[in-house]
Amino acid sequence: MYLCPLCQQPLLLTDNYYQCANRHSFDLAREGYVNLLPVQQKNSKDPGDNKDMMQARRSFLQAGWYAPLAKAVTTMLAPLPAHSILDLGCGEGYYTAFIKQARPQSQLYGVDISKSAIKFAAKANRDIQFSVASAYQLPFADNSLDAIVRIYAPSKASELQRLVKTGGYLLTVTPGPQHLVQIKQAVYDSVRLHDDAVAQIDGFAHSKRQRLQFTLHFNRSEDVLALVQMVPLAWKFSAEQKQQFAEGLPAISVDFLLDIYQRN
Ligand SMILES: [Zn+2]
Repeated sequence: MYLCPLCQQPLLLTDNYYQCANRHSFDLAREGYVNLLPVQQKNSKDPGDNKDMMQARRSFLQAGWYAPLAKAVTTMLAPLPAHSILDLGCGEGYYTAFIKQARPQSQLYGVDISKSAIKFAAKANRDIQFSVASAYQLPFADNSLDAIVRIYAPSKASELQRLVKTGGYLLTVTPGPQHLVQIKQAVYDSVRLHDDAVAQIDGFAHSKRQRLQFTLHFNRSEDVLALVQMVPLAWKFSAEQKQQFAEGLPAISVDFLLDIYQRN
């Protein structure tokens, strides 16, 4: 169940809109999602949206390059007794859809600040509840979720702590030391590797880590370009450098750290 982002009262779905006791209402979009981001929380007109980056991410993910990560996430979640699960910062719902497929009985939510990403996600996955909202003020009640999955997305420990029930879980995915190291080497003179220390998250105890490493072998420069485009470093490359790098069809290392935490 969602909470009103303006007054934190429960939102009830009536016909095609959600409404709280104070009569704040939010339309259920045709695609099946609800926009719970109050206008005053938007920092830009279309937060979280960078068309090029989104397009690149979409084609890269749909091509299956990160399917091993999706599989590892669902495998790691599989033994956990969790019914209500939130995919925080779900983007276009790529991983959310994998999770739903692996555990169809679960009540799955996907939240992202980008409206166009959520629209895309909702259209493709009618059995998942998607909403546009800020990770820093999530539209759910205290202790209402059994698990949160956070793949890359930024978040605030106090919000995670507020939402996850005692004994519930947090699964995070962060880049490992070797992640995309060849792209970094092409951009920087000296490369600083990602830290692999386990992050401490207030209110949670770390319980398990799995490291997932594999190498991407490309046949088409378009796929390399899509990957380069979706990483934050991309702006450091000139268009020419990017093209040149992609045409070399470099083998690129992928390195993810999957961590499970349990709510105290
Ligand atoms: Zn309200």
